[in-house]
Amino acid sequence: MTADWFDETLHPSLRARLRIDKLIYEGKSEHQHLVLFENETFGRVLALNGVIQTTERDEFIYHEMLAHVPLLAHGHVRNVLIIGGGDGGMLEEVLKHKTVSQATLVEIDAGVIEFSKKYLRSICGNAFEDPRAHIVIADGVDHVETTDQRYDVIIVDSTDPVGPGEALFTDRFYTACKGCLAPGGILVTQNGVPFLQADELRSTLAVLTRLFSKATCYTATVPGYVGGCMAFGWASDDAELRATPLDVLEQRFADSALDTRYYTPAVHQAAFALPGYIGSLTA
Ligand code: SAM
Repeated sequence: MTADWFDETLHPSLRARLRIDKLIYEGKSEHQHLVLFENETFGRVLALNGVIQTTERDEFIYHEMLAHVPLLAHGHVRNVLIIGGGDGGMLEEVLKHKTVSQATLVEIDAGVIEFSKKYLRSICGNAFEDPRAHIVIADGVDHVETTDQRYDVIIVDSTDPVGPGEALFTDRFYTACKGCLAPGGILVTQNGVPFLQADELRSTLAVLTRLFSKATCYTATVPGYVGGCMAFGWASDDAELRATPLDVLEQRFADSALDTRYYTPAVHQAAFALPGYIGSLTA
């Protein structure tokens, strides 16, 4: 980080640079280095270990697409597991579904949650106080290996595969996720920007294809994650859920009374149409 600029150091040959209009916080939690600053374009920006996690202005794209796509494709979700997601944005989107009776969030770093409650209410709202929210401070791998719960949807809202997030991109983790999915359940994953992180997506999809009847990915463009569109892994033993018909999605969307800014049923369907360079990674 130089004087008034934040340099994201995630990619070896490319650096994103955001102006720090106001530094709100810089410090260390038990697991990670946290920075929160204000930027004219993105609003408040949260970075962990030098990598942008979420921003006030574009978080709706990421959170809506990783939450509503699996929940509306499934159609009768009651029990949801979020791995990571300490900023609370995913929890807030999931809890907008009235059918959800419990959303368990497993975050390794209690400091991120405390920090988000204090500084990122614009992203998490009152989600952490919702009686349906069940917050667990633990490693996501340990949780999926030991829980006796069965989840309709598992959302992996992780950091990139460096530091504590690395374990959330392994064969061991995905295998344990499959073990705690209810029949017909769906697993979705944060899989980075394929133009810059093709190996990450390729290796995740190789494992998911082996474990599940249907594994693919879908995309959305989130301006704060540079390098083009980002990919979300998708896996389920119910192959039909990936192609839930448009009229069914429209009915569920209307019934849910969700007020979204990015997600629409048509965008949901279109997100699975993959450009060639991404589709080839799913083979
Ligand atoms: N939207 C973000 C992105 O795409 O980069 C992810 C945001 S969320 C803040 C990621 C969270 O995953 C972090 O708070 C981090 O502490 C958590 N995390 C990393 N490794 C974890 C693990 N092994 N178990 C549980 N949570 C983990």
